[in-house]
Amino acid sequence: MMVYLIALLFALLVAGAVVVLAIRPLRRELLTQRLFTTYKSLLPQMSATERDALEAGTVWWEGELFRGNPDWQKLLAYPVPRLSPAEQAFMDNEVEQVCALVDDWQVTGELFDMSPQAWTFIKEKGFLGLIIPKAYGGLGFSAYGHGQVVTKLSTRCSALSITVMVPNSLGPAELLLNYGTDEQKQYYLPRLARGVEIPAFALTSPWAGSDAASIPDYAIVCRGQWQGRDVLGMRVTWDKRYITLGPICTLLGLAFRLYDPERLLGGKNDLGITCALVPRDTPGVDIGRRHLPLNAMFMNGPTRGQDVFLPLEAIIGGPKMAGHGWRMLMECLAAGRSISLPSSGVGMAQLTARSVGAYARVRSQFKMAIGRFEGVEEALTRIGAYTYMMNAVRTFTASAIDLGEKPSVASAIAKYHVTERARQVVNDGMDVIGGKGICLGPSNFLGRAYQQLPISITVEGANILTRSLILFGQGAIRCHPYVLREMQAAHNPDTRQGLVDFDQALFGHVAYTARHGLRALAIGLTGSRFVAVPDGVAPEARRYYQQLTRFSSAFAFLADISMLVMGGELKRREKLSARLGDILSMMYLCSATLKRYEGEGRQAADAPLMHWAIWDALYKAQMAFDGVIANFPKRSIGRLLYRIVFPLGHPYDVPSDRVGHQVAALMIAPSATRDRLTAETYLPKTESESLGALELALAATLAAEPIEARIRAAEKEGRFDGVPDANVRNISAAAWRIGVVSDAEYALLKRRNELRELVIHVDEFPPDAQFSLRQPEPRKAAA
Ligand SMILES: Cc1cc2nc3c(=O)[nH]c(=O)nc-3n(C[C@H](O)[C@H](O)[C@H](O)COP(=O)(O)OP(=O)(O)OC[C@H]3O[C@@H](n4cnc5c(N)ncnc54)[C@H](O)[C@@H]3O)c2cc1C
Repeated sequence: MMVYLIALLFALLVAGAVVVLAIRPLRRELLTQRLFTTYKSLLPQMSATERDALEAGTVWWEGELFRGNPDWQKLLAYPVPRLSPAEQAFMDNEVEQVCALVDDWQVTGELFDMSPQAWTFIKEKGFLGLIIPKAYGGLGFSAYGHGQVVTKLSTRCSALSITVMVPNSLGPAELLLNYGTDEQKQYYLPRLARGVEIPAFALTSPWAGSDAASIPDYAIVCRGQWQGRDVLGMRVTWDKRYITLGPICTLLGLAFRLYDPERLLGGKNDLGITCALVPRDTPGVDIGRRHLPLNAMFMNGPTRGQDVFLPLEAIIGGPKMAGHGWRMLMECLAAGRSISLPSSGVGMAQLTARSVGAYARVRSQFKMAIGRFEGVEEALTRIGAYTYMMNAVRTFTASAIDLGEKPSVASAIAKYHVTERARQVVNDGMDVIGGKGICLGPSNFLGRAYQQLPISITVEGANILTRSLILFGQGAIRCHPYVLREMQAAHNPDTRQGLVDFDQALFGHVAYTARHGLRALAIGLTGSRFVAVPDGVAPEARRYYQQLTRFSSAFAFLADISMLVMGGELKRREKLSARLGDILSMMYLCSATLKRYEGEGRQAADAPLMHWAIWDALYKAQMAFDGVIANFPKRSIGRLLYRIVFPLGHPYDVPSDRVGHQVAALMIAPSATRDRLTAETYLPKTESESLGALELALAATLAAEPIEARIRAAEKEGRFDGVPDANVRNISAAAWRIGVVSDAEYALLKRRNELRELVIHVDEFPPDAQFSLRQPEPRKAAA
């Protein structure tokens, strides 16, 4: 009897719960109201600038990956970007010509600037107006076309690529295009396109770097004299540093906080961050000195101004845009971040892949090309596979911009991971070429890239911050189907409507989390073998789509449980947030790589690059899952999560040495694969330049290898015993003398030796060479 009573009670409780959950008004009153109050008290305070940053831009493919069930048809359907005939012609002509005109050693070691001829060329040929539409006299290039140009320039000279990159990235032109008044556009854009104006954009202050929204630079609305008239304007005071092109700019885009204490604009006092255009010759503008950013020798320096008067018309977009600067900057950042730094990173990686691969075949130690030693192979494998993946990410992300997207999270992923991998690739390259990379001079083809790479790590969102705060932090809010809706509901001043919206979002959220938990477990238990994959994909890549769907589902579940358990605390738990961002990023990198493989027509010869890169990224994603789960604040929940995410243990081992060997082999021999991998590299045609010499030396080395094999065999037979010059340098001559090789073969060996000599040469300078710049001026203390 008792048992029946308990069962009846339980059934009544369950039925009650079901009724409460099913009848929305009842659910809201009895349950959601309490949860809503608790949620609002736990929600971290968010400033208007933080909110602007989080809400800026759009969500693209990364949203699919975040939401646990990526639609692969969508990925396959995105158009593969191609150059227009005009862009292709520009790449083949103007870009080639400017590369030939600029000599990196002259820029970095002699002139400390580009030559006047190079400056004139880039201005006259429109390099500073790639993104400006033709209607305003610019070249009107697509994001992809723009990226191709910057990538190629980056294989030649950083000063050149950064000088071109900055006016085409976040700065006056981009801001004017998006927010400028017609008058501002008509006046400035044609001048910027032709290089009549040199732009710079100044946001960073000594006191506010990463936390740029805290800039102390300010302006006070007031009346004043402007070109002989009494006008409403503002007195601006600033102290900025690190401003690229600052020392030579004629038009300074300036960010400051605008105040209107006398309410001359009729609104509030603190109007917020505002962006204005300041002609360099405005009285009071202090600009012109230089910093020395890791010997890259592009123009970069500080600027200051004290109570500089500007009319309100100087605000980008006019007075109505006062206080909208932060949102403008955040929206434009996504486009810039998708193109400039990914392109420069890919440029440096392609340069490394091309040059170091060749060097590893030409340079021989222990009677063998160094590229054949397994230890060196490991580095070559990373160089090749990362370069393949990086270029895939760059191209894929640029294609989003050309589709009209401003993907804030995808652009941050591209910026962070392409620059980090560029650092790894260049570091590996430096290790492979040994002392050759260390001694600077015109013969060193990699030392400057190694020196300058940290610049791209630091700018446009320093990488540690990007990984720790943005990739998951912004991803969670922007890509998640419910989190932003819940937050917006909590911030809704109409609390009644807020409760209704919150209720809907919350219960949708609960169902979403439960679904992904069950799905992740089911896919994990079946090794993802039953995950549906579109018929059109390459059979050799099919398993990756399945594994990515598995990881995506597990990620959606893990992300939700992390947010549920840690709430706002997750913002401070940067290590966990960074690892969640790593998982999302690795899935994005893999998607881009699969897209590249398909887009290039599934090149069978390139398959090892694709396999190694994806395998490595999936393994890294797996480690990132481990990193989150092992450090989960509640250990019991962590253990449960592990059982759901990896019910049968880890699916991935490290990438195989066999595939790694195949990749390394592709790096040290000429082939169509190597050409595709390094397609944007500027290749000098003559041996007087180090990269030109390397190309010729590689061909000569390959031609000499069979002859050299015969010499080695003769050596083993003892035919060189007692021959005094049968040493590492002169054995070819000795072999010819004693008849091991013919005249023609000796001529071939001699040519190979000449080129090898050029390739391994390092520069020497007189003992009294002047390397140093003059001492910097001492900094005056601030008042
Ligand atoms: C060569 C060069 C060119 C530049 N060009 C321009 C330009 O044209 N215009 C312009 O306005 N600015 C420019 N900058 C500025 C650049 O954007 C800043 O350097 C950048 O924002 C970082 O600021 P910071 O160097 O002061 O580093 P800091 O802000 O001092 O950061 C130091 C370290 O702390 C980390 N960090 C900071 N906060 C967090 C956090 N919350 N969580 C985790 N890590 C954190 C950062 O990732 C970084 O690793 C340039 C800088 C350089 C070096």
